[in-house]
Amino acid sequence: MRFAGFARMGDFNARIRDLKASLVPRGVDGLLVTDLANLRYLTGFTGSSARLLLTKRGDYFFTDSRYRLQASAELKGLKVRIRENSFEQVAGIVGRLGLKRLGFEGGSVSYDTYRLLKKSLSGVRLKSISGVVEGCRCVKDTEEVGLIRRAVEVATKGFKAVERRGVAGRSELDVALTIESVVKKAGAEALSFDTIVASGERSALPHGKASGRCIRKGDLVIVDMGVSVDGYKSDETRTYAVGKATKRQREVYSIVKDAHDRAIDAIRAGVRARDVDRTARGYIRKAGYGRCFGHGTGHGVGLQVHERPFVNPKSNDVLEEGMIVTVEPGIYIPGWGGVRIEDMVLVEKDGCDVLTGGSKELRILR
Ligand code: ZN
Ligand code: ZN
Repeated sequence: MRFAGFARMGDFNARIRDLKASLVPRGVDGLLVTDLANLRYLTGFTGSSARLLLTKRGDYFFTDSRYRLQASAELKGLKVRIRENSFEQVAGIVGRLGLKRLGFEGGSVSYDTYRLLKKSLSGVRLKSISGVVEGCRCVKDTEEVGLIRRAVEVATKGFKAVERRGVAGRSELDVALTIESVVKKAGAEALSFDTIVASGERSALPHGKASGRCIRKGDLVIVDMGVSVDGYKSDETRTYAVGKATKRQREVYSIVKDAHDRAIDAIRAGVRARDVDRTARGYIRKAGYGRCFGHGTGHGVGLQVHERPFVNPKSNDVLEEGMIVTVEPGIYIPGWGGVRIEDMVLVEKDGCDVLTGGSKELRILR
């Protein structure tokens, strides 16, 4: 039997080792990992129900009978013991190992689960240390970059199919369907999110999921789409004009394009993410459209389509070599339409590598 994560062992043991080394200074003697993307990052497990307990005296993976076989295949080579997933099991092991302060991921544990955990672990101090695995996930290794590059390649086939076939006279849903069928045939295991196809006035909706609206000549069409390959996501946006482009459409497009290019030029290791945001935002504001750009300039992409680092005005993240972030400024004008251009870039020492290559000049589709 072959499961998605089985073919690649990655360096899961090393990831777990590095994470455990960072626990001591945080004042805990164990960590209970419950977030599914974090579990996948640390172990390669692709199922939807599991917990991972990391301690100085051994690591334990808890899952239920549905995933028993899958877990033993996907976790092969990993130094973890597999146990039945229940609070009693976790509590029994925590007690046996004599753990006093257990870290947990407060951001992914519901209040009810927390209460159950607290009850079954009486005598153990629970400390929320959210974000520690997410921090490790920010910088991608070669294998992760390779998977993201493949996801981008597959997604490009979806965009090309739309460009070849044209969009005029078709519904947004129909265009989204073309994309979905092309990328799935090309090797996408899933879409990163519901494909956004927003045309005409609807292009003023930054997250306008494809609707039944018929795309007409003279529209702007935002297509924002990504695919998942072996768990790793892509995310890219192109905005097209249909049949022709008016002067104002070209004008707005070129402001967004310049903001996008400037932000990409500002990216390199050591730069604060908020400064990249300020570059794009400042440019759009000066052009008179500050109020039409409400969202962040970008975000990290990996096992999740939105993850750290965040490129927005409030971000405290500093870009490092090996991080992958999007650059996606936009201008949205209610009643008129909108433009967004989104690329994914790999942060390098002296600049960045644009993963979603190809020209981002305004294209006019049939
Ligand atoms: Zn996107
Ligand atoms: Zn995005």
